[in-house]
Amino acid sequence: MKELNKEMEIEKLHAQMRRCNKCHLYKTRTSVVCFGGDYHAKIMMIGEAPGANEDREGEPFSGKTGKLLFEIFREAGFKREHFYITNVLKCRPTKDNAGQIDRQPTMWEIDACYHFLEKQIALLRPKIIVTIGNTALKTLFNTPLSITKIHGRVMGFKQYEQLIPVIPMYHPSYIERNGGHYSKQKREMLEDIRVLIRIIKELVKEKREKKEKENIESYMNA
Ligand code: SF4
Repeated sequence: MKELNKEMEIEKLHAQMRRCNKCHLYKTRTSVVCFGGDYHAKIMMIGEAPGANEDREGEPFSGKTGKLLFEIFREAGFKREHFYITNVLKCRPTKDNAGQIDRQPTMWEIDACYHFLEKQIALLRPKIIVTIGNTALKTLFNTPLSITKIHGRVMGFKQYEQLIPVIPMYHPSYIERNGGHYSKQKREMLEDIRVLIRIIKELVKEKREKKEKENIESYMNA
């Protein structure tokens, strides 16, 4: 898909999200949190759902835990712009539906919203997906294993003919609950980010080899 068409299609999809009232969360949201970062990014990051701050600002991972997440990524050399960031749910789920206490999304809400995530992946065609926390992992994969067992293990998400590598990572609120920057979970996350760097290097190598092969072929046929 040409870049301009791709941008138009993504904008169209974001506009559909902003108008969506497919589940009851539309009644209590302030914003529909479509995406953050850069939609030209090769890595897609998928979190759970907007919290209070994200709902107010319309930007995923913009609150306190999002700050922690990107401080950790920054230590490993990544910036927010290296990702297209989204969530499984685009509207904030709260315990009392009155904006007081956040809660996990229900299966019903995830089912109602999943078609948007599917279209985001199809349109953006990310080279790598990073899932953040249990909900994103379990939305993409039917696995009984929780994030504490499976983080850092490369999985494959099949879309059309493409198998996209997926690296599950901890949610920053879990890291924060366990001591933030001083926790064992943060060190484990940095290890998981090294897995991400390894995959990027493999993709760069593959691209270089493909280019070399094409150059050799065009030289031989000239
Ligand atoms: S959470 Fe998803 S399905 Fe529910 S209203 Fe928001 S955009 Fe629509």
